[in-house]
Amino acid sequence: MLARLSRWLRMLGADTIFDASIDGAAMLKVARAEGRVMLTRDKRLKTAPDVLFLDSNHFREQLRQILARYPFDVIENALSRCSRCNTPLIEVDREVVRRRIPPFVYAANETFSECPQCAHIYWGGTHRERIFGEIRKIALDLSQKIDK
Ligand SMILES: [Zn+2]
Repeated sequence: MLARLSRWLRMLGADTIFDASIDGAAMLKVARAEGRVMLTRDKRLKTAPDVLFLDSNHFREQLRQILARYPFDVIENALSRCSRCNTPLIEVDREVVRRRIPPFVYAANETFSECPQCAHIYWGGTHRERIFGEIRKIALDLSQKIDK
């Protein structure tokens, strides 16, 4: 249920573990051992300390709730982490990745990042536009809430 949220949190740069194969109690143990906040929709964990119960099923509402409770600079941190495996990305020279990307992607982009763990390559363009579009929407709603 929170797979989409976890991908978005990683795209915003938050260090996010997601594992649908382990149950809530086991995940809580991992979270506490590693000093993490557990995000859940499981009502049974609602009153546990260091758990943030998410009120909504929608990832955008969930992101707003998380950013209201645990604010961080999403503009500064966005696109610094692999959305697939959570590993911090490293910038790579475009010539290094040239043979591994479509020619039109190479031609249209100056900067590339690579995940040292899963080797996925990231670049700007529409992906970046979409992420910053989302950030602007979320930030706008946050400021509206603060104004009220
Ligand atoms: Zn990766």
